[in-house]
Parts: sequence; structure tokens; C-alpha cells
Amino acid sequence: MNIGFIGLGNMGAPMAANLAAAGYETAGFDIFAPCPNGVSSPGTAPGAVRNREIVFTMLPDGGTVRRVADELLPHMMEGCIWVDSSTVEIEIAETVATAAAACGVEFLDAPVSGGVKGAQAGTLTIMVGGASTAFARARPLLETVGGRVVHCGGVGAGQATKICNNMILAPAMIATCEAFALASRLGLDLNVVHEVVSKSSGYSWTSNAYTPVPAVGAESPADNQYKAGFAARLMLKDLLLAERAAGMAGFEPEIAMAAKEFYRRFVEDLGKGDMDFSAVILGMLEGNDSETRD
Ligand code: NAD
Repeated sequence: MNIGFIGLGNMGAPMAANLAAAGYETAGFDIFAPCPNGVSSPGTAPGAVRNREIVFTMLPDGGTVRRVADELLPHMMEGCIWVDSSTVEIEIAETVATAAAACGVEFLDAPVSGGVKGAQAGTLTIMVGGASTAFARARPLLETVGGRVVHCGGVGAGQATKICNNMILAPAMIATCEAFALASRLGLDLNVVHEVVSKSSGYSWTSNAYTPVPAVGAESPADNQYKAGFAARLMLKDLLLAERAAGMAGFEPEIAMAAKEFYRRFVEDLGKGDMDFSAVILGMLEGNDSETRD
């Protein structure tokens, strides 16, 4: 299968590079970022999707996915599968799936978890919503960029599952940062704390795979001045998606909404949305009180 790939940022670039490295002829386009090694650059978005059997998108938000749908669906060939791996509103997935069907294009929502490292290593977890037939056709490609590919249900089910996952991730990151900040203020050796926590009931992806402290635990954005990684603005976006989905379901998730307010302050009041979402620890460490809290 030949591939078009739109959106070559932190996640899209390594995913497209892995597809190309696996031998799939891949053309890419991004409004800012260059094409990674192995991915050809036709120079325009329509040029990247025309005559492609499968089109991937990896874009920042639902508004962008809608605009890209309006712009590119007329250029996608009939029978093409569009895999949107961006994290967006459930109803955006449903809307663009309907628009795609009208153009003879099959749509899968396929958001991912696992961060930039997972994208580079091809080990992402991919949560897929859409028809079983399209899923079966796209599966070999999804398995090239992902280590675990799960069909969650019909269109929108991938986004719904991803939203629930990140409702756990955000409070887990805040709690991990608070625990390491307190440990630091109590004069503990943070490597020792990490050794204990990573094998105890405090075990979590945020403490083990994405440790938010420089030179402690796994290599992470903390070891690179908190350069994203997963930008705090994207975490805020996901918590707003959770709020919207919960509202539709008549549910008020208290902790997820506290995490939303926490990231809203960090992104909007402090203007730190482009930093990694683990950078919230900076304001918690002794002597840094103005960094994340008023
Ligand atoms: P990013 O901001 O690094 O990349 C998005 C890219 O899309 C940018 O390069 C931007 O120039 C490009 N873009 C925007 N509008 C475009 C358009 N109209 N046409 C072509 N390109 C366009 O974001 P990211 O970190 O790669 O995240 C992408 C998606 O993946 C988001 O929805 C995010 O929530 C999700 N996600 C990110 C991570 C992570 O760790 N970064 C993990 C899981 C899921």
C-alpha cells in the first residue's frame, strides 16, 4: 500500500519515518515541519494524498482535522482509507467519517498512546474506531507504527477510549510531580525514592517511563529542559475533551476537572503551554513557587 501522511510534528514525523522504513512508499506534508528521512515531499497537501491507498493524519486538534477534511477529502481516491491518529472530539470523528463516506473514503479514528519515544520505537498503543473491514485492511500499517493495536468499536470509540486514558494520565503526572517535589523538600535522595516507587504501589507510567525529574529514572523531557514531548497545551486539550465527553454522558469527573484547572493555569495564566506536560514540577520544587502557582 502507498501512504500519504499529513502532520509531521513530534509524533507524526517518527510514525511516517517508520512506515517508510518498513518499505511503504510514503509521501508527507506539514505546514511547518520538514519531511523525515525516507518520506517524499510533493510540496502540497493535495499532492501528498492524491492516488494514495491510505492517508494518515496526525494533527494538533479537532478544528484542524475538520479543515483538513474539507481541504483534502476531494483529493483522496475512492476506496482510500483515512486513518486519523490525532486526539480530537468524539463528534469530530463522527462528522468527518460521514463526510469521508460521502467521498467513498473509509474513516478510522486511531488515536495513540506512548509518547514520542513510543512513536520512534514503533511501540505505540493504537485505539481504533470504525468498520471492521477498514480496520482489517489498515491493520498491517497500524502494526508498523504500534506495538498494540486494539479495535475499540465503531467510529469515535478510539477517541472515547483515548480520552478515558488521558483522564488517568493527567492526575497521575500531577501526583508524581507532587510526590517527587515533597521528597526533594524532605531532603530525600530522589534516585532512592524512584527505586522504591517504581517497584511499589506508586508504580505508574509517569514515574517509571516518564520520570519528571532530571537524571532520575527513565530518560524523559526532564533531561532535556522539559522540551515537549507531550506539550502541556495538548494535555489541556485532552482534559477539555474529557469535560465535553463527560458532559454528554451526564457525569462530573471531579479529579479530571481539578487536573484540567491545574493545566489551564499552567498553559493560559503562565503561558507555558509549549513546555512538556511534566514541567509542572518546576513550580513545586523549593524556591520555584512562582513557576506554576500564583
Ligand atoms: P505537534 O504540534 O508536534 O504536531 C502537529 C503538526 O501538525 C505540526 O507539525 C503542525 O505544523 C502540523 N499541522 C498543523 N496544521 C496542519 C495542516 N493544516 N496541514 C498539515 N500539517 C499541519 O503535535 P504532536 O505532539 O505531534 O501531537 C499530534 C497529535 O497527537 C495531537 O492530537 C496530540 O494530542 C496527539 N498525541 C501526542 C502525544 C505526544 O506525546 N506528543 C502522545 C499521544 C497523542
